Amino acid sequence: MRLVSRLLFSMLLLLVPPSVLAEPVSVQHLRVWRAPDHTRIVFDVSAPLEHRFFTLQDPPRIVVDMDNARLQGPLPEVETGGPLLATVRSGAPEEGPLRVVLDLKTEVRARSFMLKPAGPYGHRLVIDLYDAKATQEDATAPKDDSRSSVPTERRVLVPPAARDRVVAIDAGHGGEDPGALGRRYRTREKDVTLSIARELAKLVAQTPGMRPVLIRDGDYYVGLRQRYDKARRARADVFISIHADAVPSRQAFGSSVYALSEKGASNAMARQLADKENASDLIGGVSLNDKDDMLAQVLLDLSHNKTMQDSLNLGDNILAELRRIGPVHMRNVAQAGFAVLKSPDIPSVLVETAFISNPSEEKKLRTPSFQQQLAESIFRGIKRHLARVPVAPSVSIQATNNPLDPPREHVVRRGETLVSIARQYNIHVDALRFINDMWGADLPVGLRLRIPSRQGDG
Ligand SMILES: [Zn+2]
Repeated sequence: MRLVSRLLFSMLLLLVPPSVLAEPVSVQHLRVWRAPDHTRIVFDVSAPLEHRFFTLQDPPRIVVDMDNARLQGPLPEVETGGPLLATVRSGAPEEGPLRVVLDLKTEVRARSFMLKPAGPYGHRLVIDLYDAKATQEDATAPKDDSRSSVPTERRVLVPPAARDRVVAIDAGHGGEDPGALGRRYRTREKDVTLSIARELAKLVAQTPGMRPVLIRDGDYYVGLRQRYDKARRARADVFISIHADAVPSRQAFGSSVYALSEKGASNAMARQLADKENASDLIGGVSLNDKDDMLAQVLLDLSHNKTMQDSLNLGDNILAELRRIGPVHMRNVAQAGFAVLKSPDIPSVLVETAFISNPSEEKKLRTPSFQQQLAESIFRGIKRHLARVPVAPSVSIQATNNPLDPPREHVVRRGETLVSIARQYNIHVDALRFINDMWGADLPVGLRLRIPSRQGDG
């Protein structure tokens, strides 16, 4: 009987436009994450939600209207020690949209977007607040969506000069994205990675001629692309992403080091790990509007440079040092398509320090002494690598307003693959996919593909 009535109910649902559905979306929970350049407010909701927001002055506040929504209980108290958000309160209207008011300490620019279920979360409504007075320079703020206004980057070589070697240290995950969870103590990967990153930064800072840049220095999420953008802006010489992996087996143990691969993963585990780490943006929350032409440019630059070889060399050195303090999971640097390592000009590796899924490694990962040991090993590996490479001329990045050169066209012939076409034009296959917005496997004969031009050629 119940099944029959459920079926009848679902058939009825199909007939009714969604806005008239009786069942309101429940707003279940609220979290606030404070990053240096923005504050993120996340509402857990039971289903996708139509919403609008508008800003009001005197006092500054943002009003968010959520259609057909209802609070499941009182809004939780939120930590509002930051410079932007003062309080979150809600009206309880008899009918009409649910109204939530964000009282602000200053004028902000805001953006909002929905996130689909990912990792530990269901549907989420995200509102990001940026200080309206902050300079455009350091804000990873919402940009105009019009593509023509997005500046592309052109690199200009500056004569070599004595300068500090810059080590970009990326603590994996953060904020909305907890990363892997330990089995015994529920240790969160994002906390362990931040502790190790800070230890490593200390060691680098104490060394004459070296300077650390912490890509994340708190409990907030940074998009994978923003991570290497930040490293590039800091003119980093190396980029180290720190993680602590979990796998289904409790027995897996030891450290591993990964580098980017253009051709695909070097083994199944590397591929699974890359898939998992790349899902961070879904869990941590990156608006789909964030992708722009710069990504295509970055991917274009990936082919034809020695960054990959340098990354492997850096990885080898770190792995050799890690081997001195404990077991390693794989004897060589493994490779896969890690989004966070796709920096075209900075040798980049991802270090899985240990398995947080292994109870005894989880226990060790929590201790400051093991975190210190890991940081020291990674540090010695970096030093060994940098000692072998000459100080690179400082690469300064200047934004220009020159758009990408006008794309050429390629008509797909029988037997061709995206990889073979990419090779033919000397471009990265991901750039080809990106510029044609092609993410599936289908490549019908006769399809017209846009072929991006390599900027800086000729
Ligand atoms: Zn991770």
